[in-house]
Amino acid sequence: MTNQANTDTTDRLRDVVREHWGYDSLRPLQAEAMTAVLDDRDSLVVLPTGGGKSLCFQAPALCMDGTAVVVSPLLSLMKDQVDSLTANGIAAGCLNSMQSPAERRRVLDDLRSGELKLLYVAPERLVSDHLFEMLQRARPSFFAIDEAHCVSTWGHDFRPHYRELRALKERFENVAVHAYTATATERVREDVVEQLGLVEPNVLVGSFDRPNLVFSVRPRDNVREQVAEVVRRHPDESGIVYAISRKKVEGLAADLNAMGFSALPYHAGLTDEERKANQDAFISDRVKIVVATVAFGMGIDKPDVRYVVHAAMPKSLESYQQEAGRAGRDGLEAECVLFHSGSDVATWKRLLEQNPGEIQAGAFAALAGMADYANGTVCRHRALVRHFGQDLEDDCGNACDVCLGEIDFVEDALVVGQKILSSVVRQEQRFGAQYTANVLKGSRDQKVLQNGHEQLSTHGLLADHSKKAILDWIGQLVNQGFLARVGEYSILQMTESGAELLRGNVTPKLTRPAKSKTSRKRTVAEDSWEGVDTGLFDELRNLRAELAGQAGVPPYIVFGDASLRDMARRRPTSEATFLDIRGVGRKKCAEYGDLVLSLIAQYAEEHGLPTDVDVEAREMPAEKPDGPSGSALKAFPLFQRGLSVAEAAEELGRAHSTTMGYLDAYLSHEKIDDPSPWVPREQAVRIEAAIDEVGPSPLRPIKQWLDEQGGEPVEYDEIKIVVACWSNRQG
Ligand code: ADP
Ligand code: ZN
Repeated sequence: MTNQANTDTTDRLRDVVREHWGYDSLRPLQAEAMTAVLDDRDSLVVLPTGGGKSLCFQAPALCMDGTAVVVSPLLSLMKDQVDSLTANGIAAGCLNSMQSPAERRRVLDDLRSGELKLLYVAPERLVSDHLFEMLQRARPSFFAIDEAHCVSTWGHDFRPHYRELRALKERFENVAVHAYTATATERVREDVVEQLGLVEPNVLVGSFDRPNLVFSVRPRDNVREQVAEVVRRHPDESGIVYAISRKKVEGLAADLNAMGFSALPYHAGLTDEERKANQDAFISDRVKIVVATVAFGMGIDKPDVRYVVHAAMPKSLESYQQEAGRAGRDGLEAECVLFHSGSDVATWKRLLEQNPGEIQAGAFAALAGMADYANGTVCRHRALVRHFGQDLEDDCGNACDVCLGEIDFVEDALVVGQKILSSVVRQEQRFGAQYTANVLKGSRDQKVLQNGHEQLSTHGLLADHSKKAILDWIGQLVNQGFLARVGEYSILQMTESGAELLRGNVTPKLTRPAKSKTSRKRTVAEDSWEGVDTGLFDELRNLRAELAGQAGVPPYIVFGDASLRDMARRRPTSEATFLDIRGVGRKKCAEYGDLVLSLIAQYAEEHGLPTDVDVEAREMPAEKPDGPSGSALKAFPLFQRGLSVAEAAEELGRAHSTTMGYLDAYLSHEKIDDPSPWVPREQAVRIEAAIDEVGPSPLRPIKQWLDEQGGEPVEYDEIKIVVACWSNRQG
């Protein structure tokens, strides 16, 4: 943080977060995002699903006067957030169409009396209903737009009512608007800023990597058995299985039930009531498995989904990231398995071709990108973030099939590739994959004999391999661009790079499914279970279910899995040690402390276990300790040399806003008190005059004061720098 004023507010934020949420540390970018809110400067915060966006506006709302107004697209999301805020002892309410007039009146009364810290509303409510006028009187502390990509037609969830939110900046000139989204595309982000009319927003973009997710990809053979194997790895844990069509969904759900699991289907063919009932059963942990089409997911904030299986390839990596991303929101490890086959591409092409027009052009490229990922051989975490224009410093090492060494590469891939291509050429490029595999396998079936292809020199060249393996390789050669499938019958033809391969100038990457997974390296999962007594965990989970039932809320609102694990690991017996448990704030301690503590004490005694164990709480990989990050430290020497933010950004290959964050860290870490390398002398003097007039924080009044004075416009970044140096001088 930059300065004394900000250090104070940061401390205050940390206290609030500890007291109400029971978290000891903030996740990457949360502190910056919260500071933007306290600075009263518009902002756009991009964090992946599970990155902790809600806390970014909820915690500052408690540190500010008045009510923060949160716009959220779905009733279920609003309800969920209000329930969990209430469970943490925070005054929150929502206005929606399902409320009784009495409930509604109560919320409006609380708003009028200034009691509410957070008010959730749907966009269509906000801009109608006299609510606008009421709010103008109540003076909101700020507006937070959740799922802000809904404002953009370029996004995947465009909601026309979000467009009307532009009125916020027009009607509430002095109230900051903050937008939050997980959307990874630049175009959507720019559109959000534009559509909401944000003024010089602080744009904060986090890493899209989800280190707690373990990704793997497998060729599909017996899908029902393959899915069951994943489910068996997660007894009593929640999971989602995605399939492409309603029919596949119904089939898989029936299969799983026949195998003794309990699964419910979800797709657009069900009635609204059926869909809602199935979704509720999943959210409240009454059923652990949902088999669904893509229709399922939006509005599911369930944090403890421990696995997401794709029974077939989705149509783009954007979809994949979104669907798989529903796993492990709570930061604990979760597994994402993709089963795919060459036929998925064909299925999607057929579906897309029924949907002509401009969508199609981009759609095929997106499909190809997805197939590349499925057949890819680089770290899955790296492949995913690269797709969204970022990169990782290192491969994940232990959270994907590639890094875990579960993929077996074919050593003589060049030779295998040449054999396949030369067969295609000798067959005069007139046959499909099945036929080609037959020839290479050495089949003497009628069609092969009719064509005289048993005479070809390539006949039986790959007889030692299964036909399935040969088909997989053909698929991989197609995906790597050495072969193309052409026309209605998907005839194989060699491409130009295929010709290069035939000449031995390039080598393809061909894989075979690994035999076993015995030699797994240490995974993320083992870390977060370390020291946890699983018997106690199970008992705590039962208690949680009971408490949730009584309160009429989903179990995760009572305690998250991370909290239960922490309890079963440290086994607190006093209020003080209970408050140290992650996710236990004051309210929950008061409400559930007695019950939980006596259960723990009894269990520990029965099993002769030590209590109040003093372990370093194992943080999730995403939660970094305080202090400048490694990447920020790399920028320090550049600032020491007096480089501007733009120059440093260029040198580091980072975004301007990110680099500005590094400068911020540099100024505070090195206690720099002279802003002159970054802000022209004259501007600095004017800003300091403004500080004298209105104080160092928040930033917005400084900017307004300067704007009123006229003259050269001053940017927020400049103000920030001068305030930081000014504070360092105050000591
Ligand atoms: P998003 O909206 O970005 O998908 P959420 O706001 O739903 O993410 O947060 C995801 C989960 O992470 C929630 O269960 C939340 O309680 C938890 N969480 C958020 N911030 C922290 C933190 N600083 N420490 C521990 N857990 C956190
Ligand atoms: Zn990896």
